[in-house]
Amino acid sequence: MEYILETKNLEKKYKKFKAISNLNMHIPKGAIYGLIGKNGAGKTTLIRLICGLQKPTAGTYSIYGISNENKKIIDARKRIGAIIETPSLCLDMTAEDNLKEQYKVIGLPNYDDLSTLLKLVRLDETGKKTAKHFSLGMKQRLGLAIALVGNPDFLILDEPINGLDPEGIIELRELILKLNKERGITFLISSHYLDELSKIATCYGFINNCKIVKEISSEELEQDFRKRIQLNVSNVKECVKYLEEINMPYKVISNETIDIYEKINVSELVIALSKRDCTVNEFSEKGESLENYYLNLIGGAEND
Ligand code: ATP
Repeated sequence: MEYILETKNLEKKYKKFKAISNLNMHIPKGAIYGLIGKNGAGKTTLIRLICGLQKPTAGTYSIYGISNENKKIIDARKRIGAIIETPSLCLDMTAEDNLKEQYKVIGLPNYDDLSTLLKLVRLDETGKKTAKHFSLGMKQRLGLAIALVGNPDFLILDEPINGLDPEGIIELRELILKLNKERGITFLISSHYLDELSKIATCYGFINNCKIVKEISSEELEQDFRKRIQLNVSNVKECVKYLEEINMPYKVISNETIDIYEKINVSELVIALSKRDCTVNEFSEKGESLENYYLNLIGGAEND
């Protein structure tokens, strides 16, 4: 697998306090990577390190395979666009002038793509209106356009949904999906809005107590999310035989637990199984949200 970003035992200490420690992370090319963790877990610190705003106190990371210890990391970072916490805008400037500033900052010789970028974020008709009169959604979109100057292929968005109204959230979601699909941009998005994140992310990293406690793809997670009926039975073998006969998708979880992935008439099932010397001791409907998954995982990690 080709990784846009990989970290190895990354650590950042502020005096004696470890904001992140032994952090191992892998962002595949083309992914929309959702970074999830509670306040103070170390998300922004991690993002600052990657963007070169701070230096790690131990461990390494690589961007496009180039180690942070290699001088070429400066060039690799030029391929990254980022919005950390709030977009850095000049509030007294128009959308167009804000973008022009960014072209100058990164030393681009001309304003190629400027009108395409404004159109892309739907700010091409804001004319002389200055950014201070923009809605939060417009500011966020302008921030995204600024991050896109120079045509980066990796975008880092720290809490991009904060404060947006439902319409702003939908617009941002569509924009991220479009950029991912049409321009092949890889995203790292930290967010507390798990429901929203689950609509776009292709993989997740869960951060807790300074480290990534789990990385999982959305497909793997969906397997866990699938609505299912969980049975606790006295005779798994017989239960499996019966489910095979009636062509029911299932998964054996343990020597007394089976998950069934389609709707089933439980009373009929109980009767049928009882004729085969198999008692159903318990059944329950399962199906998780990303939020439940996170809470179970972090709860579990905290009890370690
Ligand atoms: P949030 O979701 O609230 O933004 P976060 O996951 O982004 O949180 P960080 O901002 O990375 O968390 O902070 C991680 C820890 O490091 C926190 O305990 C924070 O107080 C501490 N920290 C961050 N920056 C500094 C600093 N410059 N000096 C000392 N401690 C810091």
